[in-house]
Amino acid sequence: MEIIAVTNIKGGVGKTTTAVNLAYLSAVSGSRTVLWDLDPQAAASYILRAAAREATSAKKLVRGSQELGELLCLTDYPSLHLIAADRSFRNLDVHMSQRKKPAERLMKMSRSLRELCDRLFLDCPPGMSLLSENVLRAADAVVVPIVPTPLSLRTLEQLHDFVDREGWSDLRILPFFSMVDRRKSLHQQIIAEARARFPGMLTSEIPYWSTIERMAVRRAPIPAYAPASAATDVYRSLWQEITRRLK
Ligand code: ADP
Ligand code: MG
Repeated sequence: MEIIAVTNIKGGVGKTTTAVNLAYLSAVSGSRTVLWDLDPQAAASYILRAAAREATSAKKLVRGSQELGELLCLTDYPSLHLIAADRSFRNLDVHMSQRKKPAERLMKMSRSLRELCDRLFLDCPPGMSLLSENVLRAADAVVVPIVPTPLSLRTLEQLHDFVDREGWSDLRILPFFSMVDRRKSLHQQIIAEARARFPGMLTSEIPYWSTIERMAVRRAPIPAYAPASAATDVYRSLWQEITRRLK
């Protein structure tokens, strides 16, 4: 099972939009795919129309007395399953901190999915916490949406530093530009500088488009309701580039 996290310490950068669209594209390519909504704000669960669940599970999950597989729910799309967020997820890291090897809990918890799925996507909450450390430990790759603003490159630098310090040389860091407005000269300038400084950045960019923003109104992955749209094309090329990098 391959684990792909969509993460950034900043909120509102396109993590959830990206996670939902990429997980859908993964599923339609024939891989059994699970999207785990780790954010108690539950945006991915909302977009994929998950039914509300009782807020009781985080402690049991971390303790291992409840398995992730029990939480899988169907979506409207074959091969795509969801682990919906609930309010208890806001305490995931509190429960993790009370266990032995607290930074390895998520890796342990995800093991029970190995028989059930080929690819696990993690839609992460913003912030830098024990939960994000768990995510970096468990993931094979982190997809990082970067909005081209002056400070956003600093967060990328911090992520690289953290991963280097921990010595996780196997973790693939895959940043890409998100919500790009090519009409803004500042965006063009920041993108050019960043590409020089971080040559490993993905070349695919996701533009700032209202057709993408409307996904949260349609409550479905864009490729599912607008397969021939330009918005679908940009997510497809992002997904193709990621899969090439992961080979
Ligand atoms: P995050 O998960 O990082 O908080 P979201 O994916 O929820 O970010 O996106 C934040 C807001 O921006 C949402 O309202 C979403 O619909 C909108 N959005 C995301 N990506 C784009 C984009 N490429 N163009 C326009 N709006 C976007
Ligand atoms: Mg989100």
